[in-house]
Amino acid sequence: MASKLTGTVALVTGASSGIGAATARELAEHGASVALVARRKDRLEDLAAEIEKAGGTTLVVEADITDRNQAEGAVEQVVERFGRLDTLVNNAGLMLLGPVVGADAEEWDRMIAVNLQGLLYTTRAALPHLLQAAEQGPRQVADIVNISSQAGRVASKGYGVYNLTKFGVNGFTESLRQELAQRHVRVGVLEPGAVETELVGHNTPEVRDELVDPVIGRIEVLTADDIADGVAYMVTRPRRTAIGELWIMPTEQG
Ligand code: NDP
Repeated sequence: MASKLTGTVALVTGASSGIGAATARELAEHGASVALVARRKDRLEDLAAEIEKAGGTTLVVEADITDRNQAEGAVEQVVERFGRLDTLVNNAGLMLLGPVVGADAEEWDRMIAVNLQGLLYTTRAALPHLLQAAEQGPRQVADIVNISSQAGRVASKGYGVYNLTKFGVNGFTESLRQELAQRHVRVGVLEPGAVETELVGHNTPEVRDELVDPVIGRIEVLTADDIADGVAYMVTRPRRTAIGELWIMPTEQG
């Protein structure tokens, strides 16, 4: 059955787990060929096998997007394989929490590298292809969805540098949205609240106990599929409709 994304190609960064993996599955279900980008190749290969078994088309691209050459190479591999790129989901990210006083600056570097620089490198490399898809593609529109966060809207103690990166993603997204509006490349942010993934697990138990709101442990949080559903909503709107911002929260998260 023809679906809204049939004939289109999507690239999802951070597709080896959590929100990225769920988004890749969802976009494939909508008919897109999906390029899976991350560092853990074994995970990507397992996901590719699963999507292909369900009738989808995939490309596994092992890349560390904090390296500009690898980010550019990832985009080029996708265009070489599929001949086009219609949808970019900048999802790869890292959240390392802790006070600014006495912080490990290397943790800041890692967060800034993936949440900001990786997103910029991938976006820059993808833009010529997205612009071409918007001119010549089957839908005459292309999409960038940047996975920001509730932490891109509201700052919290102990989240400082993560807040910095996600506020930055929001500002960059809106600027790029305005730059590309007339050219039919839609650019939007999706800001999730708490989602059950591996993200928080990169912090020590002590940091988690101190800084992750204990309420999160008592409420029903979102699943990665809930966010994938939001991404699919954004990229399947009619050509005239751009979702600039989508804020998805667990119902019980205050
Ligand atoms: P996960 O830790 O499950 O996934 C993060 C993904 O990013 C992995 O696939 C990882 O793959 C990839 N990644 C990390 N560094 C790099 C790199 N250098 N190059 C390429 N890929 C990289 O977390 P989530 O699914 O939760 O996170 C996805 C996004 O959602 C992030 O941007 C996060 O900030 C955001 N978010 C998450 C929320 C949550 O509650 N979970 C809430 C709000 C926003 P690999 O290690 O294989 O490279």
